[in-house]
Amino acid sequence: SRLRNIPGSVDVIRASEYVIHEPESHRGKWAEVFGNNRPVYIEIGMGKGRFLMDMAEKYPERNFIGIEMYDSVMFRAVQKAEMRTERARAELEGRDPESVIEIPAGVTSRPGRPENCNFRFIRMDARKLCEVFDEKEIDGIYLNFSDPWPKDRHEGRRLTSRNFLCLYEKVMKEEAVLEFKTDNRQLFDFSLEEIGDYGWDVKEHTFDLHHNEEMNRGNVMTEYEEKFSSKGNPICKLIAAPVR
Ligand code: SAM
Repeated sequence: SRLRNIPGSVDVIRASEYVIHEPESHRGKWAEVFGNNRPVYIEIGMGKGRFLMDMAEKYPERNFIGIEMYDSVMFRAVQKAEMRTERARAELEGRDPESVIEIPAGVTSRPGRPENCNFRFIRMDARKLCEVFDEKEIDGIYLNFSDPWPKDRHEGRRLTSRNFLCLYEKVMKEEAVLEFKTDNRQLFDFSLEEIGDYGWDVKEHTFDLHHNEEMNRGNVMTEYEEKFSSKGNPICKLIAAPVR
């Protein structure tokens, strides 16, 4: 469904204040975008943005950037962000937030974004990461339910392949870690091996996050995590970092 073209979606993305339109122009100065020097965390392959926006709400002292390469998916994230803003506004004005219903597809009028909003979106392919972020600019990276690319010949497209690890380690600060969740055991096993072979340190991992009390503490669910765990699939998670 992600390849389906939603009429008007490009216009909605273009008009959204949540979306950073020339991300390369902020390389090395993301603090200016947020208007503060707080740590910056990125999620690559954000999807519809639930995890990113819930994390931003949970950690107001951090900044979050969601990266997603498809317009049709980014459109959903933008709609969701604007809905949340409208609901928050309704609540402030003493209206019932539940009375704010889904912003329909094709609507180009925008509710805007709150002044001190601590999340933004970028519509791009993660392969361009180093064009958008300077060395040691990022405090942490999240990968959630990344596309598995099961064929051997597509190994290099997996977001946990060394092609990407070498980009991540450039933009990550000394103390930064990569957190990866998936229900796909093949992709997870590949990732454990690839990350180790590449010379990074896998600090923690579990094959059943939701039954691992310690690692699951404070877990923020993603759309895919909700869907697959409700079907009974165990969720795998690892935390890794380059060896410093
Ligand atoms: N993270 C979300 C979740 O857990 O619910 C979405 C998971 S979805 C399976 C993976 C998303 O990653 C898709 O929306 C896809 O478009 C995006 N994606 C895959 N490769 C990407 C890349 N190289 N750069 C940016 N986004 C990518």
